[in-house]
Amino acid sequence: MFFAVFVGAVGAYLREYTQRDHFLLRRMLHNRAMSDALTGIGNRRFFEGNAATALRQARRERAGLVFAILDVDHFKKYNDRYGHQAGDLALRSLARALEAKLRRPMDMVGRLGGEEFGLILYGVRPDAARAMIENLVHAVSSLNIPHDASETAPHLTVSVGAALFDGLESLEQIYRRADGLLYESKAKGRNRYTLG
Ligand code: GH3
Ligand code: MG
Ligand code: MG
Repeated sequence: MFFAVFVGAVGAYLREYTQRDHFLLRRMLHNRAMSDALTGIGNRRFFEGNAATALRQARRERAGLVFAILDVDHFKKYNDRYGHQAGDLALRSLARALEAKLRRPMDMVGRLGGEEFGLILYGVRPDAARAMIENLVHAVSSLNIPHDASETAPHLTVSVGAALFDGLESLEQIYRRADGLLYESKAKGRNRYTLG
């Protein structure tokens, strides 16, 4: 009797142990597939998946949403001047600074690739979004990462294209619109945002 209970208990323990092991392994693989190896923030896959969900939810709840793309200014020149490794470090600092600025649970930042980051602000009104994005642009420039090859400022800066969700557009549409607004920010002199 005692032996049977003992065998049963060991069996249950082993089963539980392997299940937990699988669970942890799966979660680890999932996290790795969703995070950007350089900066540790969400990668493009993570960002786009969540952005699509956020758009659907905003549409359903009639919530305000901003989809923004941030692009580092003159980053090729930064690498040329300070080296690729310094460039990598700068991207890490930027990612950390952006993430630290997000306050609300549904807000999200991810690395789209290269020196581009995606940002979602959920449940915001245009004036609050404006303040938030202005604050982000300012936060990057306040990191004061020297960039003496930049034509824009003596430190690293970003330009932002920020699209206010119209309640209907698809991820692809709002992405394209944000990209156009980013282009406007670049053309107007960089180190700024354009909200539209
Ligand atoms: P603009 O102000 O118009 O955005 O100019 P830019 O130089 O930032 O833009 P461009 O697209 O010409 O260059 C982007 C540069 O970003 C080129 C590439 O070497 C650099 N870059 C992309 N990914 C990484 C990365 O992971 N690490 C580093 N160090 N550099 C990267
Ligand atoms: Mg770019
Ligand atoms: Mg750039």
